[in-house]
Amino acid sequence: MDKLLETVNFARQIELNRTIEGVYPVSGLTRLKLACLNKGLVSNEGSVTAKLKFGYCVGFACLKGSVSATLVTECQRCLKPMQTEVTGRFKFALVNNEDEFELLPEELEPYLLEGEEQSIIELIEDELLLSLPMVVVHETACSNYMNKQNSKIKIAVMAEKEASHPFAALKNLNKQES
Ligand SMILES: [Zn+2]
Repeated sequence: MDKLLETVNFARQIELNRTIEGVYPVSGLTRLKLACLNKGLVSNEGSVTAKLKFGYCVGFACLKGSVSATLVTECQRCLKPMQTEVTGRFKFALVNNEDEFELLPEELEPYLLEGEEQSIIELIEDELLLSLPMVVVHETACSNYMNKQNSKIKIAVMAEKEASHPFAALKNLNKQES
């Protein structure tokens, strides 16, 4: 797939009814990289794939699209590298001024056209930032630490259940410890 165009005139793409597709390196997305550093971004490798369709929806100039990226981050539980898939979908009505805002139906989010050309990269970066997970961890218990924590929780629950028979709970605890 070709490298994604960085900027185009969005209004012109509507006239052309154009679909733009491409890939872009994660290393080129500074804000995304910064946000990911907090989540332990392990490598700058990897790329972003995006598709943008310019056209009309319910009579309004519209930009619809999707973006996805595979990031290599550190699992915040076991600290091993893991791949995180981040995807986003978007649909914007392109408007030239605030008056046009008012006319939009509620389901259309406005995108204000400013300047000669607009940045595709900024737009998809925004979408990825919105889609970043709060915490990145393996889906299953992934470390000895975690497994130990789990069995401790089980013991605690058991102890609570047996609270009316304190000696029985103690016996159970001893069993689990050995
Ligand atoms: Zn993990």
